[in-house]
Amino acid sequence: ELAQIGVTGLAVMGSNIARNFANHGHTVALHNRSVAKTDALISEHGSEGTFIRTETIEEFVAALAKPRRVLIMVKAGDPTDAVIEELAGAMEEGDIIIDGGNALYTDTIRREAAMKERGLLFVGAGISGGEEGALNGPSIMPGGPAESYKALGPLLESIAAQVDGTPCCTHIGPDGSGHFVKMVHNGIEYADMQLIGEAYNLFRDALGYTPAQVADVFTEWNDGDLESYLVEITAEVLRQVDAKTGQPLVDVIVDAAEQKGTGRWTVKAALDLGVPVTGIAEAVFARALSGSRAQRKAAVGLASGSLADKPTDAEQFTHDISRALYASKIVAYAQGFDQIAAGSAEYDWNLHPGDLATIWRGGCIIRARFLDRIKDAYEDNAELPSLILAPYFRDAIENAIDSWRRVVITAASLGIPVPAFASSLSYYDALRAERLPAALTQGQRDFFGAHTYERTDSEGKFHTLWSGDRSEVEA
Ligand code: NDP
Repeated sequence: ELAQIGVTGLAVMGSNIARNFANHGHTVALHNRSVAKTDALISEHGSEGTFIRTETIEEFVAALAKPRRVLIMVKAGDPTDAVIEELAGAMEEGDIIIDGGNALYTDTIRREAAMKERGLLFVGAGISGGEEGALNGPSIMPGGPAESYKALGPLLESIAAQVDGTPCCTHIGPDGSGHFVKMVHNGIEYADMQLIGEAYNLFRDALGYTPAQVADVFTEWNDGDLESYLVEITAEVLRQVDAKTGQPLVDVIVDAAEQKGTGRWTVKAALDLGVPVTGIAEAVFARALSGSRAQRKAAVGLASGSLADKPTDAEQFTHDISRALYASKIVAYAQGFDQIAAGSAEYDWNLHPGDLATIWRGGCIIRARFLDRIKDAYEDNAELPSLILAPYFRDAIENAIDSWRRVVITAASLGIPVPAFASSLSYYDALRAERLPAALTQGQRDFFGAHTYERTDSEGKFHTLWSGDRSEVEA
């Protein structure tokens, strides 16, 4: 019997996805650089389905039904290139190589073009959901040639998470689009986590709550419009007690956040595209700041000022924080979807934002009730200029706006850092402003560099003769 799919790279993600395929009745060919991982998977989980054990790439490729479909789940970067090269040498025209690792989308664009020249279909697939999702149903974002999806789509859809009978997997678009979209997903995840962190910090420092008390608030929130995987696990992490000290675990963990790079990639790509993803950027920088341990240690004790207006009504302030969180989250998603639209335009991908909201409803780390609303918003109007302008979100922000401002005011007064809450609010205020100080910026640029400006009352470009008689000339 030949396998419908092969998986190479059997570390935690690859072996869980291989088991997921097998659990869904597919015959799976297994391969890993070191055979020990292949054997471990077969000895521990071989009874879950039909696996074909292989040692060499030639054996592996020979075990697959045509068109051959191979999912690569190895370390991103050079190892992925090495494995692609080896596979491509053994495969035939029309075969499909899927890279399920966290590849940088520009690498995927390059790899897809190289494989196309060799007659192979290359699919860069973003996969979200961590270990658990890989085993029980991830959200899958496959890019690549549309024809690849005919042979691959049903297979991937069968192992993806399902929400209301809809699989969290759809063909995203050409070449690097799947990995691009996965990258932005991770950026949004950074922003979401930072916002939750700021909310938590306000409960601790403004209201004096214990981690367990904050956990109760998050549990309650998870029954409302903030319902999401991240809110749910936040309550679980906050409730965890350290066995060694008897303290809440969160108080024993070093407060320096690490990162593997996808948030940084999102911000770098956004800078190149000129998209203001301020919420995601604040989240990436907040992690960097938390990791500047020597600087932080030296700065402890710096002046905090004397305003210190503590909230007097804990119930009201709790409500305020929930609304600040919701509104800021809308901003983070709006910015992420703006980046997706910009990427789509730049690379001619023709991406459909509503499809993404649909496949992010389950399986992935940012899954949330909220995504149903985003899906609806794009279904109502696929050309929305910003998610913030969808009637539902517009109303949600209108209902949240005073709370949002109170939270930022209180945090500033108490000296509690809320970079993502504050910058999201500023983004919102800038977006809705009739006039921005950018007019002054243009004047300054014209003053020192003769960069010209446009006028509000006539077409064309103008320059003031700043070092001459200061009359205006048309440029
Ligand atoms: P790792 O990223 O730790 O990669 C380990 C695997 O890569 C092993 O199978 C290893 O083989 C193989 N490998 C490394 N170098 C080479 C090489 N030069 N040639 C051949 N094989 C090589 O595994 P994970 O399971 O954590 O992740 C797999 C991919 O999925 C990564 O790209 C990751 O970014 C991505 N991902 C991970 C998620 C997670 O939550 N962990 C979530 C979503 C995506 P060997 O056993 O022989 O050393």
